[in-house]
Amino acid sequence: MSDIDPIRLGAGIVKRITGYSASFTNEPIIPIYNVRPYKNSNQWGDTIMYEVVGCNEDCAHCYVHPNLLIANTNSDTFKKKISNLPKSLQAFPQTSEALNNYFSKRKEAVIEFTGGEPTPFRGGLIKLAELVQDATIAINTNGLLISEYDDYLEPFKNFNNFEFLISIKGTTPEDFRRFTGVKSDYWESPFKAYEKLIDAGFKTHLGITLDTIGFKEEENSLYEMIERLEKINPNAIKDITWDKIIDQMWGHKFVGTHKKMVERGYWTISDQGKVIRHTNIKKTKEFVESL
Ligand code: SF4
Repeated sequence: MSDIDPIRLGAGIVKRITGYSASFTNEPIIPIYNVRPYKNSNQWGDTIMYEVVGCNEDCAHCYVHPNLLIANTNSDTFKKKISNLPKSLQAFPQTSEALNNYFSKRKEAVIEFTGGEPTPFRGGLIKLAELVQDATIAINTNGLLISEYDDYLEPFKNFNNFEFLISIKGTTPEDFRRFTGVKSDYWESPFKAYEKLIDAGFKTHLGITLDTIGFKEEENSLYEMIERLEKINPNAIKDITWDKIIDQMWGHKFVGTHKKMVERGYWTISDQGKVIRHTNIKKTKEFVESL
């Protein structure tokens, strides 16, 4: 597998949705494929998740169907998902106005966007903030665009209802590459994004995925990572969603995801077709809880 250039991948996905190639768009759209309740969501309690089409990374353990991750709008998966949306959200890509009309009827306190990756649709998020009066707009992101583009956050600074959760994939460049499929040159992007968000005063949480294969406490670079995060924000440890360390290592039922988990060495498949996980989740959990 050759390593992904996430800027190129992201631009291709935006092109499939908008017709032009760009890392992010200022059009007032947020292309969602699913709406679902989420119990005890990260830092926001019970919320409704709005799941966005497309991502500029390709994580082995991602639960999003591969056809939705690459915005294959001709696929049956995509068409079925859109047809299952509430009627008022079926015109794809959804405009911020259509989303706001839907939210305002439900009077949601937190509107949570998640993967795919919401940040390529900057214009949609900003327009939504203009329309939504009281709700928090919570954005789960891999941080790549925030890290790469110095002016990315500028329009968000005009609003006080955005909150972010940065997803950190792995504690080393090699772990990052293996999880995300992306060139290891980008492994610092979540840390840079976290720093920019904290400097700009945004309430920001952290979700961390660890490579639990052959986990050895004494060799683990988690300590260094925590030190690094604490240099950015002395209270960083309070912002970490530790359970993500465990949850995200399961991989999911889609064939495409199975293939990625095997190709990247997290799983093998037995002759009988059973998934054999090489992860040491129990030991990792004990270690994390002892921190
Ligand atoms: S960054 Fe998130 S949405 Fe994108 S591939 Fe990884 S887990 Fe999936």
